[in-house]
Amino acid sequence: MPAKKSKKPAVRRGKVAPKKQVARTAKKAAAPKVPRITYATLAITPDDDKKYDEAVASVRKELGKHFTNFVNGEPRTSTGGEGAHASPVDTRQVVSYFPKGTREDVKNAIQVAHEAYGKWGAMDYHDRIKLLRRAADLIIERRYVISAWMAFEVGKNRAESLAEVNEAAELIRYYCERMEFHKGFVLPLESPGKGQTTVSVLRPYGVWAVIAPWNFPMALATGMSAGALVAGNAVVFKPSSESPVAGYEIYRAFADAGVPKGVFNLMVGPGATVGAELQENPGVNGLIFTGSKEVGMQVYHNFAKNYPKPVIAEMGGKNPAIVTASADLDEAAEGVMRAAFGYDGQKCSANSRVYVDRKVKDKFLELLVNYTKERVKVGDPTLKPTFMGPVINKAAVDTYLRAADEARRGGGKFLHGGNQIKTGDMQYGYFVEPAIVELDKKHHLFQEELFLPFLVVDAVDSFDEALKLANDSEYGLCAGIYSRDRKEIGAFFDNIQAGVTYSNRRAGSTTGAWPGVNSFGGWKGSGSTGKNGLGPYYVQQFMREQSRWIVG
Ligand code: NAD
Repeated sequence: MPAKKSKKPAVRRGKVAPKKQVARTAKKAAAPKVPRITYATLAITPDDDKKYDEAVASVRKELGKHFTNFVNGEPRTSTGGEGAHASPVDTRQVVSYFPKGTREDVKNAIQVAHEAYGKWGAMDYHDRIKLLRRAADLIIERRYVISAWMAFEVGKNRAESLAEVNEAAELIRYYCERMEFHKGFVLPLESPGKGQTTVSVLRPYGVWAVIAPWNFPMALATGMSAGALVAGNAVVFKPSSESPVAGYEIYRAFADAGVPKGVFNLMVGPGATVGAELQENPGVNGLIFTGSKEVGMQVYHNFAKNYPKPVIAEMGGKNPAIVTASADLDEAAEGVMRAAFGYDGQKCSANSRVYVDRKVKDKFLELLVNYTKERVKVGDPTLKPTFMGPVINKAAVDTYLRAADEARRGGGKFLHGGNQIKTGDMQYGYFVEPAIVELDKKHHLFQEELFLPFLVVDAVDSFDEALKLANDSEYGLCAGIYSRDRKEIGAFFDNIQAGVTYSNRRAGSTTGAWPGVNSFGGWKGSGSTGKNGLGPYYVQQFMREQSRWIVG
């Protein structure tokens, strides 16, 4: 149903993107080959299943392996000792042992990266791209094994893992394509006079620190690294201690592709040592971080103390969906279910709050609960029917139980879930039920990022109220709307404070970004630069402009 008419609308009534312009751009952009398995399609063939199952069997035999860091192309152990990472699927199983990097290890890696940067940065960009594209090909070749490791390491199911590994490769390819599109970012400017030439050149900064989260351990870490590398920087890469094997696979792809020694260095270790050194060492020229707002803001303030240095911080979200009275409720219910519970709600893009028009609330909730009951099978992530594996660790389970308790005490009505699962083999891992709670929209669980399969829903009386509530957040990452009213959709896009937005999307109300297709980044407390990853303005951020005036 259209929003109430009033002479002075509370929000500007906008237009959706101009159709002709979008069509023209889409035509031009049709060339890139979007792989079949994306977060939207999650389309797995019988051949994929067979190869994935074989990979699971072979990785199972390798669990508990000892890994090292890599600096200057050489394996490095650490005086900090080793950490054991247990599987969230079954905590009795150690997935890997990795060194706990120390500050000294990081200092050395930074120095090595500086030495390697000169040649890499000066290399013709066509040659850099060739090597990076080879790394993308290797990631695709190894996709089943990498996906199997991800199931054990972070509990991600097969379709989401395969999509993510594809995304990692596509990110490298897209950033390479951007470098080519901009001809290496060398742009002739207007000549100031006869015999004189001026030109703008974007050049690398030097050494970048890449600090990555565990939830997209392949795609996000590969994307951040590829952005820095294609621009000609050297990298010291710190994966999360929850996902070091994925970090190693990224290292292995770049190394095997022929990226020169010292250009890409792997440094696993705690935030308190490796993370701290990366943000405090004056030898680091730029830093890119993806993770929580809490750590991200600390890194943001700490990094550039003595003089300005670029810091890109991509942080958390509390992503809303608006379901209006005119919405196709079946579409909305499926879209919300997929975005709320895909990878256990542990996506920064997860849909964690819904504002639904009071007139359609009951029907929408009925459909949402039905979809959740039918589709969201919880269990071993390596098994084909599993939709939700375990959450990442004990702290996540504790947060879930605390939130469930607070919701109950706040008068919340659980329509689905709300408990830890302790039956059968799931007792050995971190399994919880997908939770749907009807709750007062003033409750703090509409504000706090839980990063869990925990969806709060409340009724609203108008589109304007829903929009106001959607924007009432310190975060501004993703947002979605379901409506058949084009004016409402236009007003949503024009007024929603979010970097990634969707309308009427069955494949996910707030999720599904893809390189070159749907760029991804946050506003407000969700991101520091206003330029999205996976998008056309990304690679430039790893470079600084040099303006040249040449006489003669
Ligand atoms: P986190 O902030 O705990 O950790 C992120 C990284 O920072 C890890 O590598 C961690 O070891 C490191 N770190 C921790 N303390 C540090 C310190 N003091 N100095 C430097 N580094 C330190 O986040 P997480 O739990 O790994 O990931 C989940 C969070 O990431 C969620 O908030 C989620 O929304 C966010 N996220 C955002 C995006 C995005 O694109 N905006 C994408 C994925 C995840």
